[in-house]
Amino acid sequence: MRALQLVADRKLEVVDLPPPPAPGQGEVTLRIAAVALNHIDVWGWRGMAFAKRKMPLVVGAEASGYVESVGPGVSNLLPGQLVSIYGARTCGLCRHCREGRDNLCEHVGGVHGFHLDGFSQEKVNLPARLLVPAPPGVDAIGAAVAPVTFGTVEHMLFDNAKLQPGETILVHAGGSGIGTAAIQLAKRMGCTVITTVGSDDKAERAKALGADHVINYRKDRFEGVVRKITKKRGVDVVFEHVGKDTFAGSMLCLKRGGRLVTCGSTSGVSTEINLMQLFQQQLKLMGSFGCRMENMADAMQKMASGIVHPVIDTIVGFDDLEPALKRMESRDVFGKIILKLEQ
Ligand SMILES: [Zn+2]
Repeated sequence: MRALQLVADRKLEVVDLPPPPAPGQGEVTLRIAAVALNHIDVWGWRGMAFAKRKMPLVVGAEASGYVESVGPGVSNLLPGQLVSIYGARTCGLCRHCREGRDNLCEHVGGVHGFHLDGFSQEKVNLPARLLVPAPPGVDAIGAAVAPVTFGTVEHMLFDNAKLQPGETILVHAGGSGIGTAAIQLAKRMGCTVITTVGSDDKAERAKALGADHVINYRKDRFEGVVRKITKKRGVDVVFEHVGKDTFAGSMLCLKRGGRLVTCGSTSGVSTEINLMQLFQQQLKLMGSFGCRMENMADAMQKMASGIVHPVIDTIVGFDDLEPALKRMESRDVFGKIILKLEQ
């Protein structure tokens, strides 16, 4: 079967791997349908100073697949069923896993496509408990973007930041995959959404998704514009994932008692924090990583009801993945890049 492996920094190869054996106890063999690209793929592809990777590594952290066969002890899935795949190999035994909060697993084996082989391969065996069935009305692409894209955003906005209807939120990088999800989820629940983008073309598209105010961060300092829009009051919530380049400005955008939730640091991992601002303004800074199992189901339910939809930049094949990662690295995307496997 075909698979896409990272063999060196910035070097991917299409290889032929043996297909997986028959599924074991509690396992399912999946035929991978679609893989969605994320910044974790860019980090893995270009290498990073603080995390060693094993190579060769099958890439792809977020995907959907069709159940091909089920192993002994699997009663909740049937061949042919479309499922969304949880992106990390969690233990299933610790208290957090038993409560469906797998992103807090105490014995996590790693993230697929980064620490462990990922999903850019035709078939894979996985534990059934890490698969969430897609409801009718959700296709392979919708199920592919449920775990890392929509699931992460659900967990950030609702579990961590506890976003409420009527609040104002600043969503950074509204053209990114998670940005396009955050704009839709926040707007549909009745929030005022301010977002940042890097071009006027992206500004139009962000508005079309429901953003009330769009700031081109290459033309204007977002802190100043947010101050004007909110009449110096500040926003209730900042949705962060840019990191170094924006973090101090994000803190300045918060109103007293405001919440900042972050799941990423695409521009750099270190920043300075003004502690006086933190305690005097009574800000809440929250880190968020991955999602609970339920976040994936909730996201797909909202897709099925037409409340939100995946925003697709391009659909590519195995041979086009490197240019796609380069485009992500230069932020020249709007929405998700999808690697489509099934015909
Ligand atoms: Zn666990």
